[in-house]
Amino acid sequence: MAISDTIATSSIDVLRAMVAGDVYGPGDHGYDQARRAWDLAADQRPAVVVFAESVVDVVRAVRFARSHGMRIAPQGTGHGALPLEVLEGAMLLRTSRMRRVDVFPAIQTARAEAGAQWEDVTVPASEYGLAALAGSSSNVGVTGYTLGGGLGWLARRYGLAANSVTAVEIVTPDGRLVRADADHEADIFWAVRGGGGSLGVVTALEMTLYPVSELYAGALFFPIERAAEVLHAWRRWTDTVPDELTSWGRLLRMPPIDEVPEPLRGRAFVLVEAAYMGTALSGAALIRPLRALGPELDTFAVIQAPALQRLHMDPESPVPGVGDGAFLAALPANAIDTVLALVGPGVQTPLQSVEIRHLGGALAREAVGAGAQPKIDARYVIFAVGIAPTAELADAARTHARALKEALAPWHAGYDYYNFVETPAEAEVVLPPASYRRLREIKATYDPDQAIISAHPVRPAEAAR
Ligand SMILES: Cc1cc2nc3c(=O)[nH]c(=O)nc-3n(C[C@H](O)[C@H](O)[C@H](O)COP(=O)(O)OP(=O)(O)OC[C@H]3O[C@@H](n4cnc5c(N)ncnc54)[C@H](O)[C@@H]3O)c2cc1C
Repeated sequence: MAISDTIATSSIDVLRAMVAGDVYGPGDHGYDQARRAWDLAADQRPAVVVFAESVVDVVRAVRFARSHGMRIAPQGTGHGALPLEVLEGAMLLRTSRMRRVDVFPAIQTARAEAGAQWEDVTVPASEYGLAALAGSSSNVGVTGYTLGGGLGWLARRYGLAANSVTAVEIVTPDGRLVRADADHEADIFWAVRGGGGSLGVVTALEMTLYPVSELYAGALFFPIERAAEVLHAWRRWTDTVPDELTSWGRLLRMPPIDEVPEPLRGRAFVLVEAAYMGTALSGAALIRPLRALGPELDTFAVIQAPALQRLHMDPESPVPGVGDGAFLAALPANAIDTVLALVGPGVQTPLQSVEIRHLGGALAREAVGAGAQPKIDARYVIFAVGIAPTAELADAARTHARALKEALAPWHAGYDYYNFVETPAEAEVVLPPASYRRLREIKATYDPDQAIISAHPVRPAEAAR
């Protein structure tokens, strides 16, 4: 792409002089590295990439973009890069260098700059016996994850991460830094908590931490040939467990690579992964029915809260992952059979991991003062992903994930989980209808020109009239 197709070199030089962080245009050495997302399956080609070092940089970059008629795509890690619209002509505004985190144990709160990754919060919080509502991965960004809801190991007890946000600092498309909390900027405060990042560039989030230091957690591995027996048993068992226990049933095909330990390398398993906020004694009693099935490997142990982000064995380095997910209103036996027919034992599939997360508990109850995802009516959520280093493999993974979702349509909950839909579907597809309607009104107030490119686009209310 010629630089003149997008933004003049002289303009990029002006921007460079305005911000402390690095700026890359398509002709610059380093542009390819700068535009690279954590998810290597995303091929982002913005007109310019800005690495903000501070709030001042964000404000200046936003004002520059708007004065040059450019749209802006805020991004931290790029774990969620696949759902983005094409970035042609746009500014990719990366916050990855803004990773300062402060923990305030006396008020059980943390403040994380927009580029913080979960480990930046969970590790210092645990020094005070506190836990954040992180997800399965240590290096997913706090901001993108939380703006999209945030569904982790403590969710059945404490709900979505978004509903534990107590304040947000955001630069709106007109270049103003705004602080929104329960008493200020009610619309922004509501919208960013689960409605995604469509209103501006978030520069920091504040969130409640919870007194959880140790947990009883681990995984039971069975050969995939036992998938039907194990998943049906797991499904029945989920009806019996307390909110303090969150579990995920999973089919996992381990790649034949050195990073995977020998007994697991290149093999396929059915797993039950679980985390319990309680003692080892009561945790062991809870998982006894599944343990009685005789797993080949049992990793349950007492762990510290930050170790939760290793339980699911998410990749620690960038990978090309292509997947899709769906909320399920119910998971009767024939829904499990449907999953097994498409991705169970004996089936050739490009989907390395298919997980079903048990929801309910606090997720099913409307959170006090909630944001755009007040509660989740679905009882389970499914997510399927393939590692896809080539375009053909990406297509295959996408096709198989879609087929799985379509086959589960009879149990579909109506809308999908924001963070697990990896296509550029409109926000309408990933939010409750009432929330989407309100979000469109708010978008019309703060970003009528759709200057902000977000994971799932929100059409401003006026545009649709
Ligand atoms: C390995 C892996 C594990 C995961 N585990 C979970 C899980 O357990 N639970 C769960 O809920 N999700 C999970 N996800 C999904 C994840 O939450 C989403 O992909 C999320 O968008 C990632 O956020 P990020 O900031 O890392 O990614 P990014 O790609 O940097 O951001 C994603 C989107 O968030 C918005 N955004 C990010 N930063 C800003 C900002 N500063 N201002 C405004 N908008 C912003 C933008 O719309 C951006 O496109 C996982 C994803 C992966 C790849």
